[in-house]
Amino acid sequence: MPIVVLKLPNVKRNREERPKKCPYCEGETFQRWGSVNKPVKDVSVRNVKVYRYCCCHCQRTFRHYPAGNTRADQTERLRLFVVLLWTLGLSYRASSWIMSGLKVRVSCMTIWRDVQEAAQQRQKRNQWKPVRVLGLDGAYVLGWGEKQPVLVAVDVGTGEPLAVGYINEYDPQAVRRWLEPLVQRHGITVLVTDDLFSYKIVAETLQLGHQVCQFHVRRWVAKALKDLQGTIPKEWSWVLEEVRQLIEVLPPDGSRSLYALWKQLPGRRSLPKQARSALEQLRNLLVRLHDHWQSYCAFHSEPEVPWTNNSTERAIGRMKMRARTVRGYKSWPGMQSGLMLAGSYAS
Ligand SMILES: [Zn+2]
Repeated sequence: MPIVVLKLPNVKRNREERPKKCPYCEGETFQRWGSVNKPVKDVSVRNVKVYRYCCCHCQRTFRHYPAGNTRADQTERLRLFVVLLWTLGLSYRASSWIMSGLKVRVSCMTIWRDVQEAAQQRQKRNQWKPVRVLGLDGAYVLGWGEKQPVLVAVDVGTGEPLAVGYINEYDPQAVRRWLEPLVQRHGITVLVTDDLFSYKIVAETLQLGHQVCQFHVRRWVAKALKDLQGTIPKEWSWVLEEVRQLIEVLPPDGSRSLYALWKQLPGRRSLPKQARSALEQLRNLLVRLHDHWQSYCAFHSEPEVPWTNNSTERAIGRMKMRARTVRGYKSWPGMQSGLMLAGSYAS
């Protein structure tokens, strides 16, 4: 986990300098048009002085706020602070209590709105950001009564979530429909996923490079080899050792070695309805590894592609940690913004 540097924006009581441009017409000359004392919600500032100006060019008046203030009641610093409390795992109620301990009244409803707004701002910021390598993984999060399937897309370059969809990862059509606009908007060229069948289909249809997380592959291959170890005729156990080596080293031309191994095994002897013999199971394993080998080794040819889907799993871990204290999201928009914020390193 990187060190999170907490930098809250400064809040000024006064604005010394005059406006530079009219917000309406970009005019550059103004007349001061009085001032008001505006009460604000903040941890240390209670009032700020807001000047009104009239634009000499378009004759419209506008307010010129001191740094860290907007037309909202809360200062920017306070808003960021309550969003941070929530992101760190406090409920709306607990965040509101903490604020009242600091002598600032902020309702649960306001905090909820602040969280939604912060998530929207983040989304806006991410909207056109270039992302070359995208990590994808599914998760289940409690919402409106039961666990809901979500699909999390992470910018592997930064480890920050790019989007969260209300999508079941077992449905390749739904995954593709959701992913396609993201691919176009951000210029994604490579997917990093676990080896669920639907991701392979999606990567192929969208013509994306594909790296399958090797933690997952190692886990299931190790189990398959262990099962075969007990059942296969002794004279063939050297093949298991070869496969183990290939998965360990992941050589780029491994599919050729797998094909050579496959050719040495005896062909299929069981009838279609009979159970497969151990040797036939080994043949199938070789075929499966051979067919997927390219997506195990994409990381060799592209330095930005990791060989595991670690960063996506970490982002999902942060989302789940936050979801545990939420006691269930109430709607999809609420869940979406909640997960996006919680999955990020800092607000
Ligand atoms: Zn103007």
